Parts: sequence; structure tokens; C-alpha cells
Amino acid sequence: MAKKLYNGWKHKLERVCLYCGRPYAERHEVFPGSNRQNSIRQGFQIDLCPEHHREIQENCTKWAQEENLRWRQHFEREFIEKKMDAGASMQQAVRAWMALIGRNYCDEITPE
Ligand SMILES: [Zn+2]
Ligand SMILES: [Zn+2]
Repeated sequence: MAKKLYNGWKHKLERVCLYCGRPYAERHEVFPGSNRQNSIRQGFQIDLCPEHHREIQENCTKWAQEENLRWRQHFEREFIEKKMDAGASMQQAVRAWMALIGRNYCDEITPE
């Protein structure tokens, strides 16, 4: 009988909740739904304890809604900055973002 794999990689001691510092945090993908796989591939992820994870995931409180938006803006800005550092124009970088995620979260950015 094949031994069931232990998914210990999901809960590591050194992985701490970025809000409260508790260890064994879970990794949360910042862009949901069809962009979850993109989030994993691109590293659009944050580490959260089960309680903060639940609150962010449910997106029901004002705090969670603000934090979700803040993290999505953070990773969008970072993605665009990296593309521009690599030589892309602002327009090309924004286009690459829209091709990947399909939605703009930042007020200062105007996709075509
Ligand atoms: Zn926490
Ligand atoms: Zn999650």
C-alpha cells in the first residue's frame, strides 16, 4: 500500500503570519479564482495563521477588504516595476499585467 504523502510543506515552523507572527502559517494566494494558479506561479502569496487566513479569505470585514486590496495593489505595482526595470515601457508593463491577471487594482494606473 502506498504511503500517504504528508503535506508538511504547507505548514512550516519558519512560516509566520505576517500580521501576528504565529508560526506554521498557511500560504495564501492574493488573487483568487482563476488567478490562483497565476498567483502561485508568480509568487503573489502571503503567509497567514488560520484565523487571519479565514478573515482574508472570507473578505467580509472592512479590515479584510482593505488588506485584500492593499496586497493586490502591492503585487500589481511590484510586477509593473519589475517589468519596467527589465526595459519595458509603462504601457507594455501594464499590458503584461492585464494579460496575466485581467484586472487593474491601482488608481494611478490606466489600462487601455
Ligand atoms: Zn495571524
Ligand atoms: Zn487563501
